[in-house]
Amino acid sequence: MAASGQARHASGLMARLHNFCAGPAALPAAVLEQARDDMLEWHGRGLSFMEMSHRSPEVVGVVEGAESCLRRLLDIPDDYAVLFLQGGASTQFAAVPLNLVPPHAPVDYLDTGHWSLKAIAEAQRFADVQVVASSAASRYTDIPARSTWRCRDNAGYLHYCPNETIGGVEFFAEPEVDVPLVADMSSTLLSRSLDVSRFGVIYAGAQKNIGPAGLTLVIAHRELLGRARHTCPSMLDWTIASDNGSMYNTPPTFALYLAALVFDWLEAGGGLAAMETVNRRKAGTLYTAIDNSAFYSNPVAPECRSLMNVPFVLADAGLDGRFLEEASAAGLLNLKGHRSVGGMRASLYNAVPQASVDALVAFMHDFEQRCS
Ligand SMILES: *Cc1c(COP(=O)(O)O)cnc(C)c1O
Repeated sequence: MAASGQARHASGLMARLHNFCAGPAALPAAVLEQARDDMLEWHGRGLSFMEMSHRSPEVVGVVEGAESCLRRLLDIPDDYAVLFLQGGASTQFAAVPLNLVPPHAPVDYLDTGHWSLKAIAEAQRFADVQVVASSAASRYTDIPARSTWRCRDNAGYLHYCPNETIGGVEFFAEPEVDVPLVADMSSTLLSRSLDVSRFGVIYAGAQKNIGPAGLTLVIAHRELLGRARHTCPSMLDWTIASDNGSMYNTPPTFALYLAALVFDWLEAGGGLAAMETVNRRKAGTLYTAIDNSAFYSNPVAPECRSLMNVPFVLADAGLDGRFLEEASAAGLLNLKGHRSVGGMRASLYNAVPQASVDALVAFMHDFEQRCS
């Protein structure tokens, strides 16, 4: 396995290894090859895409094309705005209350782990936040039963994180609530089909399934635009972004170009239904390997195990360092768990192929044989 991990192309370049990084994550090889071919000169224009004015018909055309393709992939209804922004999902933690409610207004948040807590802490600076329920008591290994949530009728919205990237906890049904649903979908958007009409606002940093870091996606029901506080910075105001075609200032043009290629790649591969089939098989392969061994374990309740992020621990944490070293030598990269939980984590985003998961499972089996 080490030999295949270190295989070299005939060109002498290092082969691409298996990348399980939680983010920035693997990008499809076909997208990177296209970007390489376009690098110095884009479509015969005599300059690279990066060097073009964002007001040029070329760049505007790519951005409009990206939006159309994304609308087809997610079947986004016309009464939703699609915004391409910057600042990552973390900036949206503030933008959400600033755009949706007046100062001190009640807003509800569900706490299912690390990213829920980050969103809650930021929102507390701008609104009256109530945590409707928390899975802290289970160490974030499940989702609090809907019947236990203390929702407020007058809340401006309910915020939740449909896939906790660090804990590896995913929702497979949208919560039933009477207020607009706001979701941080950074690590799940585009991994499977989705009913956008169930949401008020969806946002995501790009560097998991969308493209490179530097781009942030917001999908917002148009009814929720026009509500930003007058103190909301212009750069965070969704209505200003919408009115300016996501070009109120210079957008991250190269990241948009790469995202457009990723959307095309998804569509050419059969769209999100096809992607979901691939992703379910990948996750199934890894969870089955973990569950069939006494050497590895995953603490998450089976009904909410993430398709994208699979944390697991070794029965003997003393072997963690050796596992990571040998995995890396075998061409299996970025398997270290988040510093807050330890152990391992394999992220299985769209661009990670079944072959990478098969290689990981084979390595895990081999390591277990040698160490137990
Ligand atoms: C990665 C991630 C973030 C952080 O995104 P940035 O773009 O770095 O701000 C927030 N929420 C979730 C669920 C994530 O996976």
